[in-house]
Amino acid sequence: MPLILDENITYLKGVGPQKADILASELGLKTYGDLLYHFPYKYIDKTKYYTIRELNGTMSFVQVKGKIIHLETLGEGRKQRLSATLHDSSGTIKLIWFKGLKWVKQQLKANEEYVVFGKPTSFNNQLNITHPEIEELKKHDSKPDFNLQSFYHTTEKMKTRFLNSKAIHNFQLSLLPLIKTKLTETLPAYLIAKHKLLSLYESLYNIHLPLSPELLQKAQFRLKLEELLYIQLKILRLKNYQNNSISGFNLDKVGDFFNNFYKEHIPFELTNAQKKVLREIRHNTNTGKQMNRLLQGDVGSGKTLVALMTMLLAIDNEFQACIMAPTGILANQHLESISEMVSSLGIKVELLTGSTKQKDRRIIHENLIRGETKILIGTHALIEDTVRFKNLGMVIIDEQHRFGVAQRAKLWKKNTKAPHVLVMTATPIPRTLAMTLYGDLDVSVIDELPPGRKPIQTIHYHDSKRLRVFGFIKEQIDIGRQVYMVYPLIKESEALDYKDLEDGLESISRAFPPPKYSISVVHGKMKPTEKDKAMDLFVRKQTQIMIATTVIEVGVNVPNASVMVIESAERFGLSQLHQLRGRVGRGAEQSYCILMTGNKLTNDGRKRIETMVNTNDGFEISEVDLKLRGPGDIEGTQQSGIPLDLKIANLGKDSQIVQFARNIAEEILANDPKLEKPENYVLKKYIEQKWKYEFNWSLIS
Ligand code: ADP
Ligand code: MG
Repeated sequence: MPLILDENITYLKGVGPQKADILASELGLKTYGDLLYHFPYKYIDKTKYYTIRELNGTMSFVQVKGKIIHLETLGEGRKQRLSATLHDSSGTIKLIWFKGLKWVKQQLKANEEYVVFGKPTSFNNQLNITHPEIEELKKHDSKPDFNLQSFYHTTEKMKTRFLNSKAIHNFQLSLLPLIKTKLTETLPAYLIAKHKLLSLYESLYNIHLPLSPELLQKAQFRLKLEELLYIQLKILRLKNYQNNSISGFNLDKVGDFFNNFYKEHIPFELTNAQKKVLREIRHNTNTGKQMNRLLQGDVGSGKTLVALMTMLLAIDNEFQACIMAPTGILANQHLESISEMVSSLGIKVELLTGSTKQKDRRIIHENLIRGETKILIGTHALIEDTVRFKNLGMVIIDEQHRFGVAQRAKLWKKNTKAPHVLVMTATPIPRTLAMTLYGDLDVSVIDELPPGRKPIQTIHYHDSKRLRVFGFIKEQIDIGRQVYMVYPLIKESEALDYKDLEDGLESISRAFPPPKYSISVVHGKMKPTEKDKAMDLFVRKQTQIMIATTVIEVGVNVPNASVMVIESAERFGLSQLHQLRGRVGRGAEQSYCILMTGNKLTNDGRKRIETMVNTNDGFEISEVDLKLRGPGDIEGTQQSGIPLDLKIANLGKDSQIVQFARNIAEEILANDPKLEKPENYVLKKYIEQKWKYEFNWSLIS
């Protein structure tokens, strides 16, 4: 960064030590650079004036002109407030202040014309504007004219010290001319010319003080592109490094284990998508390069089988393999299905989770280091330092979105050469997000479900239609099907969560009385053995209804279950709803997902329910999820190691710019992989500076 940006904010005109302290403690703004990169969060057209009669309580910020015709202080003590009546030719509105009354009162004069700016709200059927920005009309007109007024986030504490959005705007107004000639450009000249970008200074100027909507848009574009470009350069350099510098084991032999399994033991014909992915994996592992591959496939698309065959390939080449799952339940299920499929091949499979007993652990460790165990299945426990393999050649990570780049890197250290890594996710990640979070990985997609599956029908009912839903459940049970009923898990309060489930259980027991009906209950507070017992009853069709909290989200596979009822569905996130729905539709029967909600839904809640009703496509769902929640809230992205609290770009909304940045980064690195050419000096220098502060990519350095 050029030195001018490191200058202490205290010295800026109008700031001073006291305000500087507040800016630092409230927003972390300490230097000119910090302030300059504190971007507005919105812009309002200040050329537009409303008449008072036009206002209503649903409007966001509005600007009106009028005279103050009355001014009074109301209430006592903490309830004291200042009320001013503003009048124009169309009517009157009250302006209210709860804080800084004295100061405001001194500023305001009766019968003077003011420009008032704020949000109208309706209180007791009367419209008012609390804590408006207010300015004498004659002063207002003498200010430089920015049609688009920028708005900055501030805090309550700042507002009480008059460090409001307007104040920050004024700081930017003083700061920008100071830096004009001293700012160093952060993109190469040829890129700016080629893509007709604004210069850094023009962009910063227009982001704070837009001269026109067009220039604002160009400023935003340039700054977003720059932010995303540097991320892509970082990721692609990591990818290049992996491709060129890390050697992998050569799995060039397709031997007896793979062939025997494929010819004689495979339980069904592979889908074309599964075959395609296996080919991609084969090509990726027989060249001496290390594989780093992301396998995306919707719930039920058959990723486990692909994982198993990939491991058999490693075993054929005399390596060991491991598969890592996010929960003990899921690890257990992998153990069961994989042991069953390889039982006749004579391959030793073992399980290692957090609850493995110490004495069993020792035996497992020994079998591993001697190379006797060929497949190790487990949870995070697998990456503990005490776990050593004789020759680990293949690592499979299931439900990968919960593991970050850092954890993947740790796996590589298990051996002198790096094992191949296949990460599998059942929650598809939108393409542009994947490009950022997992941009260092190659991608395979299973885009086809095994044959014979009927798409699940999803229906939304309000709670008042409960009897109708119960009727439908009875019909399904009468024809031999089984039913899940899921209650939300509230992390903050296990007690509350349990209460929801208990209340539900009571009404369901009444509606579905024994002996005709029987019910299994599974929730987070049960001991694992009790839980297993209850699940087992359901799996063996001894019970027809399984009432559960989200413990069942991963793990259970009961093809005969054809109905998934989700209670308070509005409280679940989209990816969770999609995962839950994936528990049914596993057999040949028509399956149903019933989303129960209260009558009142938030906009986001409604959108989530509509999305579930409209589509079964996990990719589409994840796109909506990303738009609704933003990338920082998508499960597991926090540990990714990529900074997601981007200053200006939004991975959900700016997907086209993400793609554009990716293309530019690829082009740059294709011509100049190490950024050694003079024209790329700016990039190289800026990357070095940035990386000092950001995530430490120790692998590249
Ligand atoms: P996921 O991708 O969600 O991990 P699974 O691997 O658990 O999916 O597979 C879901 C179900 O589909 C399992 O019961 C599995 O046995 C079955 N399955 C997998 N591949 C095929 C196939 N090619 N044909 C038929 N059924 C399959
Ligand atoms: Mg799976």
